[in-house]
Amino acid sequence: MKLIFLGPPGAGKGTLAGLVSKEQGIPQISTGDIFREAIKKETPLGKKVKEIVGRGDLVPDELTVSLVQERLAQDDVKKGYILDGFPRTIPQAEALAGFQKIDAVINFLTPDDVVIQRLSGRRICKTCGAIYHVQNMPPKKEGVCDKCSGPLYTRPDDQIESIKNRLDVYRKQTEPLIRYYRDKKLLHDVDSVTTPEQTQKLIRGALQGLRK
Ligand code: ADP
Repeated sequence: MKLIFLGPPGAGKGTLAGLVSKEQGIPQISTGDIFREAIKKETPLGKKVKEIVGRGDLVPDELTVSLVQERLAQDDVKKGYILDGFPRTIPQAEALAGFQKIDAVINFLTPDDVVIQRLSGRRICKTCGAIYHVQNMPPKKEGVCDKCSGPLYTRPDDQIESIKNRLDVYRKQTEPLIRYYRDKKLLHDVDSVTTPEQTQKLIRGALQGLRK
């Protein structure tokens, strides 16, 4: 199954993509993770996008599309995949349509106050990328990953100014995709305000009719 997870920052796309990826046995492809990994390793791509990502702006379409196209040419995506954070603009969606046929788009519905509360308390493991939240999902020991004992950090774009910018960018550039995919009859709205498990249940329900 070829899926797109669409929604504002902090909607829980990354967390849910991880859960659904395991459940369905298909890889999760997160453009945000790819960029963060490149920044961490200081690769040429990382150097190019570091400031853009830190500010919460979008990486240019051309660069992002070619990266995804390369990733989708690998063998492990034959059975399907979850695109988490891509496409994020109409030109990206149109480019994707040129080389892939998507089965469904999950549209995460999350109010702004929930988004801000989630992002400002989010902590990430520097070593394995596991996601925590200081109130909603605290690690057993403060600042330390439960899974690998790596140190937890706050993403630079989870500072309040960048959060506001990301919400703005989402509204202007990404929200038009809701209409785009609704018109193509691919969109499934899913509430994402309670727990990851509850949201996962809703996604399972939305995908039931599509299983191949
Ligand atoms: P979130 O959904 O929490 O904002 P992501 O991890 O999906 O975070 O993305 C982090 C950042 O990576 C974005 O703010 C943007 O700078 C960059 N990025 C990720 N995906 C894309 C994309 N499809 N197009 C352009 N930039 C992207």
